[in-house]
Amino acid sequence: MAGRDVAGRDAAARNAAGNDAAGNEGDRGSLTVLGCDGSYPGPGGACSGYLVRGGGATVWLDAGAGTFAALQLVADPRTVDAVVLSHEHPDHWIDVDSFAAWRRGAGCGRPVAVYAPPGLRNRSYFGGDPTLAWHQVEPSWRVAVRGVEAPATGGGSGLLLSFCATDHGPPTLGVRIEHAAGDRSAGLAALGYTADTGPDWSAEELGPGIGLLLCEATYTSEHEGEGRHLSGRQAGGLAAAAGVGRLVLTHRRPSTDASALEAEAATEFGAPVEQAAVNRVFPW
Ligand SMILES: [Zn+2]
Repeated sequence: MAGRDVAGRDAAARNAAGNDAAGNEGDRGSLTVLGCDGSYPGPGGACSGYLVRGGGATVWLDAGAGTFAALQLVADPRTVDAVVLSHEHPDHWIDVDSFAAWRRGAGCGRPVAVYAPPGLRNRSYFGGDPTLAWHQVEPSWRVAVRGVEAPATGGGSGLLLSFCATDHGPPTLGVRIEHAAGDRSAGLAALGYTADTGPDWSAEELGPGIGLLLCEATYTSEHEGEGRHLSGRQAGGLAAAAGVGRLVLTHRRPSTDASALEAEAATEFGAPVEQAAVNRVFPW
């Protein structure tokens, strides 16, 4: 199991996996954590948001409060090829409005694709703004994102996104991300993101071959049933049942003890688990 990667702004651009400043390591992908607090940001923290890079493409996966500020420390916002918003709860999307305001001020021409479930566009102040190209996603969708640096053939091939519905109340999208080239010869595996979900859902919905599962774990087991979320225990069991390679916990409620959460997840997973933290970079 790969060890934890690095934290820190400089390190985020040149992480322990040897990725370059764009976060790409050859054909491998990277996941940079922009925020990982569950439901609301803790002191100095940020809600859910991740920068996913691979195949020459960059996808901003969830845009919770504080994540646009974090994004600007690790990437030029112009390099974002697409935004994916998992659901309408504010801790997962509110900073897309900050991004739209920035784009207007920066005079960006080409609209950026925003993939979101039904209803979210109407909540955004910039739901009709020409800087964003909104797409209402159904859970069965597959979307190819090709970065501007990704030629149709050759080195960069872009990323392929596949969506599924989770167990969370409002329409919520789990996401599978893989290299569009589909080349497994180099041992490339898919990245899975549970978004927010309750326990009546299986990570097998994300498909086979998940090398790294970014899984919500909001609280410890004594709080199970408080909401449509997972405890660390449930996250570990869900990941083990789906046979994923690595488990990275995220969306921890700021009042939850991180060590206790990690311990119960690892027990159920049957192996050490990792935890998201701002600026931590995970190769996948
Ligand atoms: Zn949430």
